[in-house]
Amino acid sequence: MKKALFPGSFDPFTKGHLDTVERAARLFDEVIIGVFINTSKAGWFSAAERTELIQTAVAHLPNVRVVTQDSELTVTAAQKLGADFLLRGIRSVKDYEYEKDIMTMNNHLASEIETVFLLAKPEYSHISSSLLKEVLLFNGDVKKYLPPAIYEAYLRKRDTHEKAK
Ligand code: ADP
Repeated sequence: MKKALFPGSFDPFTKGHLDTVERAARLFDEVIIGVFINTSKAGWFSAAERTELIQTAVAHLPNVRVVTQDSELTVTAAQKLGADFLLRGIRSVKDYEYEKDIMTMNNHLASEIETVFLLAKPEYSHISSSLLKEVLLFNGDVKKYLPPAIYEAYLRKRDTHEKAK
């Protein structure tokens, strides 16, 4: 049974993330999306809310599930879930440099866990969750980069922010 953990903050979960998950679902028996509480960036939604939103976006994939991660090492989460693989996406050389160090550290912490990388599709390689939030905040159109339910939720969240000001 080949099980992969795809860890991330997914604030929001974009079509780039979805594409990675869909491709990984063909490679692994099970893909578990681990929604982490991001320690360095304040999220628009809590990890539990993000988990629920992502569930709606991957409902068509029977071998994919979404879990909220505790604040712990990614390799510890993978071990608890029985996942021998970590899945990460690479958009650019910058991602590669960043991911290489994380992979090496994770390999030092748990050498039995292998990290697998999928290159982002060109149509999604220029988007990041933080860029989409920034564009959204200034009323730019990011609809084509987000799964529909997630787009709607972030749009509503932005409007509440604006009203609260
Ligand atoms: P983190 O904060 O842990 O980097 P993210 O939610 O930003 O979490 O990203 C999770 C993973 O998805 C990372 O491996 C990242 O490189 C990858 N990723 C981010 N955006 C895209 C995209 N547009 N296409 C493919 N992979 C992506």
